[in-house]
Amino acid sequence: MNKFLSLGGADEIGASCFYFNIDGTGILLDCGIHPQKTGAESLPMFNLLENKPLDFAFISHAHQDHIGALPFLIKKYPHVKIFATPQSIDIAKLTLHNTVNFLSRQLSLDDGITAYTHEEIDMLLRSVNTADYNEEIFLKGIRHETAEEIKISFHDAGHILGSAGILIEYNNDKTFYTGDISLLPQTLMAGASLPGKKIDSLIMESTYAGSNQELLGTLASETKRFTKSANKILSEGGSILIPVFALGKMQEVLANIFIQMENGKLTETNIYTAGLGRSISHIYDLNRYIVKYSDKEFELKNIPQQNYFEINDLNHFKRHPGIVLASSGMILKDTSSYRFAEYWLKQEKFAVFIVGYMDPDTMGYKIANAGTGSKITFGDEEIIIRCGIERFYFPTHSKRNELVTIVKKLNPKRVVIVHGEPAAHDWMGNRILTEFPHMQVFSAEKGKEILL
Ligand SMILES: [Zn+2]
Repeated sequence: MNKFLSLGGADEIGASCFYFNIDGTGILLDCGIHPQKTGAESLPMFNLLENKPLDFAFISHAHQDHIGALPFLIKKYPHVKIFATPQSIDIAKLTLHNTVNFLSRQLSLDDGITAYTHEEIDMLLRSVNTADYNEEIFLKGIRHETAEEIKISFHDAGHILGSAGILIEYNNDKTFYTGDISLLPQTLMAGASLPGKKIDSLIMESTYAGSNQELLGTLASETKRFTKSANKILSEGGSILIPVFALGKMQEVLANIFIQMENGKLTETNIYTAGLGRSISHIYDLNRYIVKYSDKEFELKNIPQQNYFEINDLNHFKRHPGIVLASSGMILKDTSSYRFAEYWLKQEKFAVFIVGYMDPDTMGYKIANAGTGSKITFGDEEIIIRCGIERFYFPTHSKRNELVTIVKKLNPKRVVIVHGEPAAHDWMGNRILTEFPHMQVFSAEKGKEILL
């Protein structure tokens, strides 16, 4: 009997971290932070690991809510062997360093947790073991040797570069953790490859299970709607702000915009990008022949882009209109998209295009749900929104029908639902029990052990 315990990221999106005990060997699946929370609150509940064996950690992908707490884990459990795909580690080399200063400021007041240094991150990343997709890793626990070796493999999850579902096989029992997964192709990522085996236990993300499929449209229909709206704004001399995550969303939207321009569907205009997003684009380019990629000839570096870090006077965007892809994706404080949004909202001909998931506690959520003419509190200031606000869906996650397809294809005996709000758990649970009555469904909760 395997034991599953959620330390974070169960019925919410953030700080994904799941403990899996196989016959006395402890494996952690992901180790993320909650980007909207601060201090100890932003970390998984590591105290739940006390008196439990912990031998290995497997990271599904390099988004902060899946990898960001790894340096804290290693401070507490330096013996743990970590595994990830080579692409995730290349990206983490950029992103984990980026959070050092930010987190050390946040954690200074908290008891029991100390911040980490750039040197510690370098050491951590040097010690991580990498495994390519479908490569089999054989493990034996450090303290409690299992009778048989545990076999683990990564499977392309189609979510972002290097993202993986994790298959754990032991004693004829198979558990598959989806990580964040996109079954359908995006503009760059070519869609997930599921393991070609029947699964016993499926641990599945449910980000979009609470959202009506029809409202989300398809990549093609959303692209069409996007280009129509963008052409209107650009023809009137306005600029468009698109808040994006530097990892994944930025590269997907950038590629899509450029392809539409090349096809003559979207007005040719300036494209503004900068910083971390650009560095990550370079890693995408380098790996395009190695991973499943929609068009291996396509290189993001060939897209003409201007650096928005070089622009101090934001009136520049009136004189030189264009499309600005700025992080953070949820318009968090002290980020480029926050600085731009404050200016953008006051400009009549401009528009903010929302293209991804927004946590309800963020400025991005407030803006996404506000309309032109309404008032919004921005920092200390109350702003009347003058610009247009439109929402498009370019999900890097599976929509609800695709999640059902994953369940159908893997045909597990039991499903544990994670990484979604309670409404998403409810929809997914009901749907599985209706369509597949022979399956058991568990809605994961932080701190609640589930026997699988
Ligand atoms: Zn992700």
